[in-house]
Amino acid sequence: MSSSKPSTPRVAVVTGTSSGIGAAVVKHFCEQGHQVLAVDFNPAGKEIAEAAGAAFYQADLTDADACRGAIAEAVKRFGGVDILVNNAGIQHVASIETFPEEKWRQIIDLMLTAPFLLTQAAWPYMREKGWGRVVNIASIHAQVASPGKAAYVSAKHGMIGLTKTAALEGGEQGITANAICPAYVKTPLVDNQIADQAKLNNMDEQEVIEKIMLKNAAVKRLIEPSEVAELVAYLTSDAAGAVTGASWNIDLGWTAH
Ligand code: NAD
Repeated sequence: MSSSKPSTPRVAVVTGTSSGIGAAVVKHFCEQGHQVLAVDFNPAGKEIAEAAGAAFYQADLTDADACRGAIAEAVKRFGGVDILVNNAGIQHVASIETFPEEKWRQIIDLMLTAPFLLTQAAWPYMREKGWGRVVNIASIHAQVASPGKAAYVSAKHGMIGLTKTAALEGGEQGITANAICPAYVKTPLVDNQIADQAKLNNMDEQEVIEKIMLKNAAVKRLIEPSEVAELVAYLTSDAAGAVTGASWNIDLGWTAH
């Protein structure tokens, strides 16, 4: 894997770019010479995107028209879409018995329906070029479940199905689709969970990391967002043309159990 400049600069759309993994992917893509549209509902994402050298499009991706609008914006600015990274995500923890229906719908809309709509809207541009890359940021929770995360686990498992279907449909069109399944990455999404779990279990935050988050990990540390961005860079490179329909774990050895 290499972070050197790609042979061909591409047009990339990345979602969920105001922080964490998405911001790291945008930075990495800009360093590689790609033209990047960063998409997020948080207006703070504009400054972050522009500092990295990307354009910004503000959109709430739970809205279907906003998904189509994001792809239209990339086409307007850059003339097409070659790479799509579906990354935007949220978490809500509650038992199935108490899980609020509106949270379930919001999570499924954002983390399963939006990736489908964005892929659908970007597809004709990739097909016309005979080259495309879709990378879905799933999770280790696309492979295993945890109590209290029904919507998240369901959306992420669904994302693997979407990835495999896109891989089969894209095979003869030069379009690949892959999923990345990280365990805990050091981002605001996880910081919030650490704080919540600390309160819930009457532990300090370091104990939460060691006893809960890294319980199943062979490598006892959190993952850096840049480590995920490196894998995205490989999967979206020319070199990865034969790699499709796969789930790529960055899970500290979690699923080796
Ligand atoms: P994060 O909270 O740092 O970033 C999520 C981004 O999504 C934010 O920029 C947020 O503004 C954006 N977003 C949220 N709702 C949106 C909406 N309705 N429309 C548009 N944008 C919206 O989180 P992260 O940890 O970087 O997570 C990125 C992805 O990686 C998520 O899909 C998450 O499920 C996945 N993931 C994270 C971890 C982890 O441990 N951090 C592990 C596995 C998978």
